[in-house]
Amino acid sequence: MTTLVWLQRELRIDELPALQSALENDGSVIVAYFHDDRFQVGQANSAWLAQSLLTLKQDYERRGGELWLVAGDFSSSLDELIERFAIKQINYSYQVGEPFVAMQQIALQVCQKHQIALQPFYSEFLFQPEQMLNLQNKPYLVFTPFYKSLSKKRFQITPLSATQKDLSATANIAVPKNHAVLPESLQRLLDQPWAQKVMAHWSVGEKQAWQHAEQFIANHLESYLEERDFPSIAATSCLSAPLHFGELTLKSLYFYMLVRIENGQLNEEFAMGWFRQLVWKEFARHLLYWFPQLQTEPFQTKYAQMQWDQRADIMMRWQQGLTGIPIIDAGMRELWQTGVMHNRVRMLVASLLTKNLNQHWLAGKQWFDDTLVDADPANNIMGWQWVAGCGVDAAPYYRLFNPVTQSLKFDAKGRYLRKWLPELAALSDKAIHEPWNHAMECQMKGITLGEQYPHPMVDLQQSRKQHLERVELLKQIN
Ligand code: FAD
Repeated sequence: MTTLVWLQRELRIDELPALQSALENDGSVIVAYFHDDRFQVGQANSAWLAQSLLTLKQDYERRGGELWLVAGDFSSSLDELIERFAIKQINYSYQVGEPFVAMQQIALQVCQKHQIALQPFYSEFLFQPEQMLNLQNKPYLVFTPFYKSLSKKRFQITPLSATQKDLSATANIAVPKNHAVLPESLQRLLDQPWAQKVMAHWSVGEKQAWQHAEQFIANHLESYLEERDFPSIAATSCLSAPLHFGELTLKSLYFYMLVRIENGQLNEEFAMGWFRQLVWKEFARHLLYWFPQLQTEPFQTKYAQMQWDQRADIMMRWQQGLTGIPIIDAGMRELWQTGVMHNRVRMLVASLLTKNLNQHWLAGKQWFDDTLVDADPANNIMGWQWVAGCGVDAAPYYRLFNPVTQSLKFDAKGRYLRKWLPELAALSDKAIHEPWNHAMECQMKGITLGEQYPHPMVDLQQSRKQHLERVELLKQIN
């Protein structure tokens, strides 16, 4: 019997039940990633994907196994593989959000046609969504009770078992030549200079992710909660992309820490402080599982009536980090150059875009989808709806961040600003957050607003007022 292990965003070998279970069957195992350009995700995300697939392929080969990379129409590729290699079962790890749900639907249809089993595994969750319902048997809509409930039963989280060492069953069938190389569109992307620059910031792959996680857990947990909001400090784990790509999982990180808590190597309070943050990812996945429409529609339906400003030049200045508001521009440039942005700054740029600049939250989400290496359907949509004020557990839409106050609070010395906006580096710690209010100093330092750095594209006080007026209007409509 031949079993196919279909990979989506579980780009690892160890602790992968879909693979482990296939290896326990007698017979051959084909492990395959299917790349269909119709289900393309964002560019930066795809660059990470390409690099991670190459690394995974090498990891398989090093362990005597094989990974197939199948390019083309997903449905017909799957169809052909099932027929040609007499596949009797497909194992996969369930994923939420698009394009995964659509592909899982196609896989189901193809399997039904061939009358073979399609076996899901829920390894990417701490708990299956059905196990995390509230007392009314409904999904949690607020994070704190979700977390409380999850922490109460965290000792019921089942560990993932290590994948057996012998992967030879995955090499029983020789990989056809056309499935032995990275799909052309991914290779082309990886060859782009911008992609190489972004990827130079990262080490990709399962082993690399674990090395990074171990180092973070050993050295940064103690100060995590105190420092995580300060973008100039390397206080957070930078594991969002490896977690999105399943190079490691929430479960394995949890058990890694649990073992060390139990043997006294790790302080439980510090470890659980970070674990709580990891659970946001679980919460986001559960939300999208229960409410798939969130990917395009606001949870608070009245928000769909909001009148947005459609001007493309506004969006472009925000995208390029040319708004004239330093903390926003620093964040947008960090994103462009590295493929990530600090969490606090993500909140600020999203707030400015949706509230002061009155641009649709979906436009911001799409830009993040295309430029983040960690772009994740569940986390991204939850983040944008939360900031825009139209999601579950949302900050009320009349509350908006003042980017200058936030910048002064979380980057008081302007270190983050100086890193990403070298043209403002000479300004004092006070002036760098709002150069337009320090004309004299700018002049003395040879910085002319409108030349080296733009004038602010929006008046923060006035646009705040206008946002509140739009919100009032929205209340009257409903
Ligand atoms: P750490 O602080 O070390 O946290 C560890 C892990 O917990 C993260 O890697 C992530 O997997 C998870 N996590 C932490 N905070 C959150 C959160 N607020 N929501 C969900 N999961 C969280 N995260 C993504 O992974 N992909 C996205 O596409 C994404 N889009 C976002 C969009 C907006 C508008 C906002 C406000 C937030 C978004 N986030 C997204 C959440 C968060 O900004 C990142 O997960 C975080 O910055 C990653 O840094 P880290 O790995 O150092 O996190």
